Amino acid sequence: MPRLQPPRGTHDLIGDEQRRHRLVTDTARAIAGRYGFEEWATPIFEDTAVFARTLGETSDVVTKEMYTFADRGGDSLTLRPEGTAGVCRALVSNGLTQTLPQRVFYAGPMFRYERPQKGRFRQFHQIGVELLGPHNPVADAEVIACGHHILRALGIAEGVRLEINTLGDDESRARYREALVAYFGKFVGDLSAESQMRLEKNPLRILDSKDAKDRAIIADAPRIGDHLSDFAHQFHEGVRRTLAAARVPFVENPRIVRGLDYYSLTAFEFITERLGAQGTVMAGGHYEALVKEMGGPEIPGVGFAAGIERLAMLLAAPPPAPAPVFVLHAEDSLADDAFAVTQTLRNAGIVTEFYYYPALKRGLERANKIAAPAAILLGSDEVEKNAIVVRDLRRREQTSHFAPADVVMHVKKLLAGGA
Ligand code: ATP
Ligand code: MG
Repeated sequence: MPRLQPPRGTHDLIGDEQRRHRLVTDTARAIAGRYGFEEWATPIFEDTAVFARTLGETSDVVTKEMYTFADRGGDSLTLRPEGTAGVCRALVSNGLTQTLPQRVFYAGPMFRYERPQKGRFRQFHQIGVELLGPHNPVADAEVIACGHHILRALGIAEGVRLEINTLGDDESRARYREALVAYFGKFVGDLSAESQMRLEKNPLRILDSKDAKDRAIIADAPRIGDHLSDFAHQFHEGVRRTLAAARVPFVENPRIVRGLDYYSLTAFEFITERLGAQGTVMAGGHYEALVKEMGGPEIPGVGFAAGIERLAMLLAAPPPAPAPVFVLHAEDSLADDAFAVTQTLRNAGIVTEFYYYPALKRGLERANKIAAPAAILLGSDEVEKNAIVVRDLRRREQTSHFAPADVVMHVKKLLAGGA
């Protein structure tokens, strides 16, 4: 039989990799919690309609990256390519549109049919937040500050640059669209086929093209900043002011458009030079029409998503595997006593492992090999004397004898560095 492999673009998370992954998720969850974001878990697949129109019919995700399938009942379902649409759907489905603001944190797998490469997978994982309700530049800045806080807590904020832009409101974008059509219209023949298609449907999307010839033309394209309405201009100024007041460093990048269509006003990306072409580790923005598209009232929101794999790659060292206290016994008849001690330690919150073989010497070798901080030894003599040997394996300290009731206290002291 051929040895089976995980599907292309997916991977198993084991050992160091899983611990990095979990550190990112746990840190993000804890920091987001400080901002009042509460975790929601929405389904990994949704009706295709949740994504198809809302993410934009000309976006990369919808045109070529979605895992869409008919289930056995004939319904069209899609594995979620991102988290925001599902959260907005859930806000409406659960009748929460009158209970605002809602502050949502989520973490979990996302699916996109992409060409796998470093930092780009078909199943990847994101942490993200959505702040639903306020139409206020402070809310946008607050979400950005939360993202920055998570990067700081992970110890990677130094090597990451925050870039912000505004995509304007409807009025600004209508004006900008005209300017883009006029500009790109002059180069129709030179644009990639995809961009030519986008020129009619959604010229803004051309700015997101990765095609080299398109990029050259895009370099001189008009900028949204020159087409902003007063409101959009003021809103952006507000975001900038709040970020400065909160001491979140940023630079302006008028070229940020984001890959999904639902954004308006604020758009931002946290970028590093350390991951090659896949340098965007966290990204998001403000949106206005998404909740309405799910059948709810007009409720604005702002959020970000970060790729856990990309963040995990930036972590200096993976957190160490927990080294358990080892419980050993000298002969078969002591196995149950030894297991009872093991459970006593676990009940007291101490990471503990029961060594299955009745062999003290071999057990100690094994305990040293995995860097166990301590070993508990049950030999027949000790049990007769109602005493248990606790050996400090880090300091190689003298063996101590204790009554079972005292073992927990002693091991705790020893692990805390005393003893
Ligand atoms: P990119 O420009 O790299 O394709 P994107 O604009 O498609 O990113 P978003 O949809 O904004 O990305 O997703 C937010 C974050 O999720 C990205 O910044 C990145 O960290 C991560 N991400 C997106 N797609 C993938 C993927 N295929 N594999 C791993 N991480 C991803
Ligand atoms: Mg993408």
